[in-house]
Amino acid sequence: MARPRLLLLLPTTTYRAAAFVEAARRLDLDLTVASDHASVFAAVEPTALMALDFARPERAATEVLSFAAEHPVAAVVGVDDDTAVLAAAIAEALGLRHNSVPATIAARDKHRQRVLLIEAGLPVPPFALHSVTDDPELPARDAPYPCVLKPLRLSASRGVIRADTPEEFVAAFRRIARILEEPDAAACGEPARRILVESFVPGAEVALEGLLDDGRLRVLALFDKPDLLDGPFFEETIYVTPSRLPAAVQRAIMRCTERAARALGLERGPIHAELRTNARGPWVIEVAARPIGGRCGQVLRFGEGEGAISLEELLLRHALGLPVASFERERAASAVMMIPTPRAGRLSELRGVDDARAVPGVDAVAITAHRGQQLVPLPEGSRYLGFIFAHADAPEAATRALHAAHAKLDIVIT
Ligand code: ADP
Ligand code: CA
Repeated sequence: MARPRLLLLLPTTTYRAAAFVEAARRLDLDLTVASDHASVFAAVEPTALMALDFARPERAATEVLSFAAEHPVAAVVGVDDDTAVLAAAIAEALGLRHNSVPATIAARDKHRQRVLLIEAGLPVPPFALHSVTDDPELPARDAPYPCVLKPLRLSASRGVIRADTPEEFVAAFRRIARILEEPDAAACGEPARRILVESFVPGAEVALEGLLDDGRLRVLALFDKPDLLDGPFFEETIYVTPSRLPAAVQRAIMRCTERAARALGLERGPIHAELRTNARGPWVIEVAARPIGGRCGQVLRFGEGEGAISLEELLLRHALGLPVASFERERAASAVMMIPTPRAGRLSELRGVDDARAVPGVDAVAITAHRGQQLVPLPEGSRYLGFIFAHADAPEAATRALHAAHAKLDIVIT
């Protein structure tokens, strides 16, 4: 029997490529990697590499359709918000089971998402949409304080700012408008001309990693974010699982996430949801139709011992309808720190990495910034210095290991 062919959609700027390619190799798949830039290798190995216009999903779908006539494709997998939309369009053209295109578009757009969630009666903060060309003085007068201002389509908290007063509102608005003028942000067109304002939701924040099957949610992991995320900027640092929240609160979070996915029309494949929880229950911050970002996927393993598999392998198996031995995360607590950028400047040196790696419980320290790189902190920046991974018997111990490892790092910025 022929090996199933996987079409993997990889943006050129992704940390996720290696983990997915490794998972495809372990599964012995025929792999075709599509990216949005022509590669010199594509001519040499046309069935392994393919250039697609990621900005034009319908055109890309037509191209894949003719490719698939000769090389049948069993599944199409995207890795981020944009490739989720592209994967949906391609899967539709190929007649493969997948999320609908409108559902993936709704998941990608923070305002569209708010509209659908509120229509479905889900708990979301009150919100309003403004144009970057609006005079911020007017909405600043009657905004609900504290509030959060944010772009519609950026990620990693880039451009997300809390305002407690009309003065802070106006400053945040102008600052976000400038961020939206940066070429990569402006590239998404019309959505880059809008700013969403919503009430600040107090409370503990969690991230839910899940997998949908016909709209039914399977929870792969629920992460606590133990660091306070109260603004004015929202730098994500630590994700740790299992969650320490009471079981009833966790159940409410899961139910809320499943309803939110359904309200967006998402039915199949990975979701990454962020919620806050307080005395009034869970509140949806956002639901994305993709797995956890960056290198963070490495924090999850499913099954125990030799048979344990990575998140990426689990996702590929699920997409291809291959058997999955266990959807249960390993028993140990697991945590990741996205190493924050302490200040702006040029990274001249990063010392102490070996000492950080030697901290008990630490599995890996992956530095993704390079020497000489210009570091940009939030809210303008969106890249981490790197990632630290740890395991322990209990989530608190895993978190402590991350802090201890981080304290060993000496980040020299000039
Ligand atoms: P991004 O796509 O950049 O991650 P989010 O909308 O998820 O944008 O916002 C990033 C972070 O900002 C969230 O994880 C949360 O900590 C904080 N945040 C965003 N919106 C709100 C809100 N309405 N109330 C409280 N915190 C918020
Ligand atoms: Ca988010």
